[in-house]
Amino acid sequence: MSDLEDSVLLVEDNEHNRYLIRFLLERGGYGVREAADGPAAMHSARERPPAVILLDIQLPGMDGYQVAHALRELPALAGVPIVAVTSYAMPGDREKALAAGCTGYIEKPIDPATFVTEMETLAGLHARAPREPRP
Ligand code: MN
Repeated sequence: MSDLEDSVLLVEDNEHNRYLIRFLLERGGYGVREAADGPAAMHSARERPPAVILLDIQLPGMDGYQVAHALRELPALAGVPIVAVTSYAMPGDREKALAAGCTGYIEKPIDPATFVTEMETLAGLHARAPREPRP
Protein backbone atom coordinates (compact mmCIF):
# COMPACT_ATOMS: atom_id res chain seq x y z
CA MET A 1 0.00 0.00 0.00
CA SER A 2 1.72 3.13 -1.16
CA ASP A 3 -1.08 5.62 -0.66
CA LEU A 4 0.18 6.94 2.65
CA GLU A 5 -2.11 9.96 2.62
CA ASP A 6 -5.23 7.88 2.56
CA SER A 7 -4.80 4.67 4.41
CA VAL A 8 -7.14 4.64 7.42
CA LEU A 9 -10.87 5.36 7.35
CA LEU A 10 -11.79 6.46 10.87
CA VAL A 11 -15.50 6.09 11.62
CA GLU A 12 -16.21 7.86 14.90
CA ASP A 13 -18.94 10.29 15.96
CA ASN A 14 -17.10 11.80 18.92
CA GLU A 15 -14.94 14.75 17.94
CA HIS A 16 -12.48 14.30 20.83
CA ASN A 17 -11.95 10.65 19.95
CA ARG A 18 -11.46 11.55 16.29
CA TYR A 19 -8.88 14.14 17.25
CA LEU A 20 -6.95 11.76 19.50
CA ILE A 21 -7.03 8.80 17.13
CA ARG A 22 -6.08 10.94 14.14
CA PHE A 23 -3.14 12.30 16.12
CA LEU A 24 -1.93 8.80 17.02
CA LEU A 25 -2.35 7.47 13.48
CA GLU A 26 -0.60 10.41 11.86
CA ARG A 27 2.23 10.14 14.35
CA GLY A 28 2.47 6.49 13.32
CA GLY A 29 2.80 7.46 9.66
CA TYR A 30 -0.79 6.86 8.53
CA GLY A 31 -3.00 9.08 6.47
CA VAL A 32 -6.50 9.46 7.91
CA ARG A 33 -9.95 9.99 6.41
CA GLU A 34 -12.82 10.65 8.79
CA ALA A 35 -16.50 9.75 8.77
CA ALA A 36 -18.88 10.67 11.60
CA ASP A 37 -21.60 8.14 10.82
CA GLY A 38 -22.44 5.00 8.87
CA PRO A 39 -23.69 6.57 5.63
CA ALA A 40 -20.64 8.84 5.43
CA ALA A 41 -18.40 5.83 6.02
CA MET A 42 -20.14 3.85 3.28
CA HIS A 43 -19.78 6.72 0.85
CA SER A 44 -16.10 7.23 1.62
CA ALA A 45 -15.22 3.53 1.52
CA ARG A 46 -17.07 3.03 -1.75
CA GLU A 47 -15.34 5.96 -3.36
CA ARG A 48 -11.89 4.65 -2.51
CA PRO A 49 -11.19 1.58 -0.37
CA PRO A 50 -8.84 2.39 2.53
CA ALA A 51 -6.14 0.06 3.87
CA VAL A 52 -8.05 -0.37 7.12
CA ILE A 53 -11.31 0.82 8.65
CA LEU A 54 -11.46 1.80 12.32
CA LEU A 55 -15.10 1.55 13.32
CA ASP A 56 -16.71 2.96 16.44
CA ILE A 57 -19.66 0.76 17.45
CA GLN A 58 -21.73 3.38 19.25
CA LEU A 59 -22.79 5.62 16.36
CA PRO A 60 -25.95 7.67 15.75
CA GLY A 61 -28.34 6.03 13.28
CA MET A 62 -26.74 2.84 12.01
CA ASP A 63 -24.64 1.35 14.79
CA GLY A 64 -21.20 -0.05 14.10
CA TYR A 65 -22.48 -3.60 13.74
CA GLN A 66 -24.87 -2.49 11.00
CA VAL A 67 -22.13 -0.47 9.33
CA ALA A 68 -19.78 -3.47 9.38
CA HIS A 69 -22.48 -5.67 7.83
CA ALA A 70 -23.11 -3.10 5.11
CA LEU A 71 -19.40 -2.60 4.37
CA ARG A 72 -18.95 -6.35 4.06
CA GLU A 73 -21.55 -6.41 1.30
CA LEU A 74 -19.33 -4.24 -0.90
CA PRO A 75 -17.11 -6.52 -3.02
CA ALA A 76 -14.43 -3.83 -3.35
CA LEU A 77 -13.92 -3.93 0.41
CA ALA A 78 -13.66 -7.70 0.72
CA GLY A 79 -10.00 -7.61 1.73
CA VAL A 80 -10.12 -4.49 3.88
CA PRO A 81 -9.76 -5.17 7.61
CA ILE A 82 -12.38 -3.58 9.87
CA VAL A 83 -11.25 -2.98 13.45
CA ALA A 84 -14.05 -2.18 15.88
CA VAL A 85 -13.35 0.47 18.52
CA THR A 86 -15.95 0.51 21.22
CA SER A 87 -16.62 1.45 24.82
CA TYR A 88 -19.06 -1.40 25.17
CA ALA A 89 -17.64 -3.82 27.67
CA MET A 90 -20.55 -6.22 27.68
CA PRO A 91 -19.77 -9.92 27.36
CA GLY A 92 -20.47 -11.02 23.80
CA ASP A 93 -19.68 -7.70 22.13
CA ARG A 94 -16.41 -9.00 20.76
CA GLU A 95 -18.27 -11.92 19.22
CA LYS A 96 -20.96 -9.57 17.88
CA ALA A 97 -18.34 -7.38 16.25
CA LEU A 98 -16.64 -10.38 14.67
CA ALA A 99 -19.97 -11.82 13.53
CA ALA A 100 -20.78 -8.47 11.90
CA GLY A 101 -17.64 -8.75 9.79
CA CYS A 102 -15.07 -6.97 11.93
CA THR A 103 -11.54 -8.32 11.86
CA GLY A 104 -10.77 -7.41 15.47
CA TYR A 105 -11.74 -5.31 18.40
CA ILE A 106 -10.09 -2.56 20.49
CA GLU A 107 -11.72 -1.41 23.72
CA LYS A 108 -12.15 2.19 24.82
CA PRO A 109 -10.73 3.98 26.59
CA ILE A 110 -7.91 3.46 24.14
CA ASP A 111 -4.32 3.31 25.32
CA PRO A 112 -2.41 5.94 23.32
CA ALA A 113 0.84 4.06 23.90
CA THR A 114 -0.36 0.89 22.21
CA PHE A 115 -3.31 1.85 20.01
CA VAL A 116 -1.54 1.98 16.65
CA THR A 117 0.33 -1.26 17.30
CA GLU A 118 -2.91 -2.96 18.33
CA MET A 119 -4.58 -1.79 15.15
CA GLU A 120 -1.67 -3.01 13.02
CA THR A 121 -1.69 -6.40 14.71
CA LEU A 122 -5.44 -6.86 14.39
CA ALA A 123 -5.50 -5.62 10.81
CA GLY A 124 -2.45 -7.64 9.77
CA LEU A 125 -0.60 -4.49 8.70
CA HIS A 126 3.12 -4.00 8.87
CA ALA A 127 4.19 -1.06 10.98
CA ARG A 128 4.92 2.05 8.97
CA ALA A 129 7.99 4.20 9.27
CA PRO A 130 7.02 7.04 11.58
CA ARG A 131 6.95 10.51 10.10
CA GLU A 132 8.86 11.84 13.07
CA PRO A 133 10.78 10.16 15.84
CA ARG A 134 8.56 8.53 18.43
CA PRO A 135 8.85 10.12 21.88
MN1 MN B 1 -19.43 6.81 19.38
